Amino acid sequence: MKADVAVLGAGIVGVCVAIHLAERGRSVVLIDRGEAGGGTSFGNAGLIQREGVAPYAFPRSLLRLARYAGNRQIDMRFAWSALPALAGPLARYWWRSRPASYRRIVVDYAQFIAHSLSEHAALIEQAFADHLIERSGWLEVFRSPATLAAERAAAEERAPLGLEHRPLDPDGLARMEPALAPVFAGAIHWTQPWTVRDPFALTQAYLRLFKSLGGQFRRGDGTTLRADGGAWEVQTDAGPLVAREAVVAMGPWSDDVLRRLGRRLPFFVKRGYHAHYRPREGAGQRFAIHDEAGFVVAPMAAGLRLTTGAQFMHRDAPPDPAQIAACETVARPAFPLGDRVAGAIWMGSRPCTPDMKPVIGPAHRPGLWVATGHAHHGLTLAAATGRLLAAMMTGEAPPVDPAPYAMGRFR
Ligand SMILES: Cc1cc2nc3c(=O)[nH]c(=O)nc-3n(C[C@H](O)[C@H](O)[C@H](O)COP(=O)(O)OP(=O)(O)OC[C@H]3O[C@@H](n4cnc5c(N)ncnc54)[C@H](O)[C@@H]3O)c2cc1C
Repeated sequence: MKADVAVLGAGIVGVCVAIHLAERGRSVVLIDRGEAGGGTSFGNAGLIQREGVAPYAFPRSLLRLARYAGNRQIDMRFAWSALPALAGPLARYWWRSRPASYRRIVVDYAQFIAHSLSEHAALIEQAFADHLIERSGWLEVFRSPATLAAERAAAEERAPLGLEHRPLDPDGLARMEPALAPVFAGAIHWTQPWTVRDPFALTQAYLRLFKSLGGQFRRGDGTTLRADGGAWEVQTDAGPLVAREAVVAMGPWSDDVLRRLGRRLPFFVKRGYHAHYRPREGAGQRFAIHDEAGFVVAPMAAGLRLTTGAQFMHRDAPPDPAQIAACETVARPAFPLGDRVAGAIWMGSRPCTPDMKPVIGPAHRPGLWVATGHAHHGLTLAAATGRLLAAMMTGEAPPVDPAPYAMGRFR
């Protein structure tokens, strides 16, 4: 088998890269060891976070750090045994989160995330995926008046970036979501973002679009990638594929290929969990809601999806459901969660970098490219990433300056 490009990893990011390359006339084979969209992209909270200009920084206040050190918060947990291996990347994450550095990151990030909706819009239309999308925004709810006031002030500050929100008092929140218990001090309604009812179905719809453009999808093992003369060879279920160029888009597993090819990046993962619940009888929930306690409850095709915050553990360590159990305990009295839908608790790993930005662009070898490290915003930024990388690979003017995402920023 021969192709112009082998894209390794068919999560939402790899599929979007593959579509954009196929649209530009490249013959593309998209390769995954499993089903497209079956990795991290399967289980997220479904938010296309147009407002998410400020990526999640490492906590800097001593008070917050002291709270997290107890390891009983529900938004962030860690395994003591994982800390020695994580110490290097986390120290860099902490360093890049200092105010001056973080402000520069937000400037870059805001420019990129500004393309999140328009780029998805184009693909959603071509993929006939409109039925999977809600365009009425999402809610952040706050239990403490002090946090509510601080977050409202932060939301006001984002207005010059073109971000719109509506502050809600408890009555306003009750009118929008009558099934919530009256335990919240207020809320912010981010009106522009979109939400996805079934993130797996969206990746599958994008895969069908890719195939309709002449692209091929194959099962294969990305870690078999090796340089073959001036090309790249990778093993698939249909035999070896030789391609002029290769893109590593294997999300939290991207490291498995790059390390074999001699490049070690300061990647780490933030694991997360989800479970689905039937809405309590006679109750329902219209919006995806982030509770400041540290979880999201989002109405999805499979039920109300409860997703957790970050768990710092080794990527391949067995699941530790304590965090989602703690989230359920806090969520149940406030949200209309009925019985849990049968099925295992899902776990995924957000692929993270210390400066909170993805890695998009040429890798360290000729003809090798990367699109990974999207952390909390891989669904949000996937379509924009596809366009950016395809533009770089085909010599088109990039939609944003690619320099902030260059792999070479990590020495
Ligand atoms: C709980 C949770 C909630 C989230 N909520 C949101 C949200 O609301 N909005 C948002 O924007 N983002 C959210 N995210 C983040 C988002 O889900 C990820 O950033 C995104 O899915 C990453 O996509 P990806 O394509 O890079 O990786 P993946 O979806 O993980 O895709 C990588 C692919 O590589 C394949 N692969 C791995 N190894 C190999 C191999 N050896 N050979 C071949 N293929 C291989 C895998 O099978 C997989 O299909 C959330 C994440 C979590 C965990």
